[in-house]
Parts: sequence; C-alpha cells; structure tokens
Amino acid sequence: DFRKTPEPGAGRGQSKRAKPIFVIQKHDATRLHYDFRLEINGVLASWAVPKGPSLDPDDKRLAVHVEDHPLDYATFEGVIPKGEYGGGPVIVWDNGSWETDDPDPAAAVRKGKLTVTLHGKKLRGTWTLARMRGRGDDDKDNWLLITQEDEFATTGGGSIVDDLPRSVLSKRAIGELAQSSGHAPKRKTKPAKAPRDVAPPDPSAITNAKRVKTIPEYSAQLCTLADAAPSGEGWVHEIKFDGYRLLAHKTAKGVTLISRNGHDWTARFRPIAAAVRALPCDTCVIDGEATIVDA
Ligand code: MN
Repeated sequence: DFRKTPEPGAGRGQSKRAKPIFVIQKHDATRLHYDFRLEINGVLASWAVPKGPSLDPDDKRLAVHVEDHPLDYATFEGVIPKGEYGGGPVIVWDNGSWETDDPDPAAAVRKGKLTVTLHGKKLRGTWTLARMRGRGDDDKDNWLLITQEDEFATTGGGSIVDDLPRSVLSKRAIGELAQSSGHAPKRKTKPAKAPRDVAPPDPSAITNAKRVKTIPEYSAQLCTLADAAPSGEGWVHEIKFDGYRLLAHKTAKGVTLISRNGHDWTARFRPIAAAVRALPCDTCVIDGEATIVDA
C-alpha cells in the first residue's frame, strides 16, 4: 500500500546513464537479507541473498530470484511499516554500475545464468548468478551468487557484509535507521540510571580543551572508470602502480593500516607504517595505494 509505505511506486522513467545500475539493499524484514538488484530493460531484476555477497570465490551464496522492482527503488532507504510486504528497515548497502559481455542480459536471466562485472563502492569485479537445477521441492526460484577469481576476490577470512555494514548513501547502520525513523519499538519506561553523586565534568571548562568534530568512519576511495582524466588546478596526476588500497590512520596511539575490507594490514606494510609515523601530522587519515617494490 503506497499510502502507508515510504517505498517508491512503479515506473518513472528509464535510466539515462550510459551503464546500467546495480544496487544491494540490506533489508531487515522477517529475516535479514540482501536484495541484489540489476537494472535490465528499465527495471531492477532482483534476487534476495540471505547471507549477502562474499568476496571468497569458494562461497556460493543462495540468491532467491524475486519479482522485478521499479528503477526508482534503487535509492530507497527507509522503514517499510509493519504489516506491509517486507516490513522492516532498508539501507542501500552498495550501489554502482554493472556491465556484461552478454548481448542479451534479460534472455540470460531467463536461461538461468548471467555473468556481470560490478563497479560498486564495496563490490567490484566479476560475479556470476546461476540458477540451481533439480534441488529443493519448494516453488522458490533458487540461484547462486558467486564471485570469480579476480583481483578483487579474497580467500580465507573476513566478511564484507560484517566488515562494511553501513549504508553507502547515509553511512548509517541498519539499526540506526530503525531508531531514527521512529518505527523501532518504543521503550515503555526509561532505563534506570545509576545515581550520580558527582556531576560529569564539563569538557569546555578544561584548560586548553578544543572543540573538534567527531572522527568519522572512513572508507577507502575507490576509482571510477572515466573516458578522460580530469584537468585543472585541483588535480595532480601520477602513474598508477598497482597495489593495495589502504587507509593509514595516525593518532597519538600510533599508526594502523586498514585494508579496503577493514582488515589491519599494518604488519604487512611496516615500511609504509614507519613512513606515515614520520609525517608531520599528529592525527590524520591518509587514503592511498600501498606497494612495496623492494620487498
Ligand atoms: Mn527484501
């Protein structure tokens, strides 16, 4: 019922982008799942992936083919009211564009196998969706979502859905969304507070205290395909040596190097950690490509 749910209704316009879009929405309905959607012929072909995507090519993730969604749904983030279909919070977990060598993706979906290259903020590289045959006796259209061995695949440990849980649009976690939109169950009573004998200190009264912004959660900047490099004063160009995208965090506690997927790789790039430690900043976050040529 579109008078009750904030979800967009069907059919306003075609995508005017050169490449079709994809979106993965994290949806905490009866069960948490990830809705994997590909723009095909003006609609979003959709699969519900209970465990979400995995960067490990050995993980074959169940993907239940569900009904197409309108293109406008791609930016939907909000809380579907209880009692409506799929009631619960939705965030845009990843989005971007996709492409395929397949000349007719819609036919490929009907035949039960489509291989795509994703250009997302979290997911990159080659992924295959393939219908399972002769398994299960329910009426569900069960497929598998598998990433291919490529430079973006990782094996052994780490879960991208756990490591990068937040929305790529609002940076919110799905639980925060449910609370902020007022649909979370309200507490009947205020939680009991421990009695305080002493008022908490006023930080602004501390000598030399400075007001600072809360340190945000950073994610590595990923490259975008473009036909030409940007020009103008604000740009510096360099040769791209292939390496590992890392965020270097420097604080009073020291330097940590965090990978694109949130793993601590400080030990793998000690010379780079040492170089960051020697930089004149006290607290900083540096987004860069790490390569040690003379290993
Ligand atoms: Mn869903």
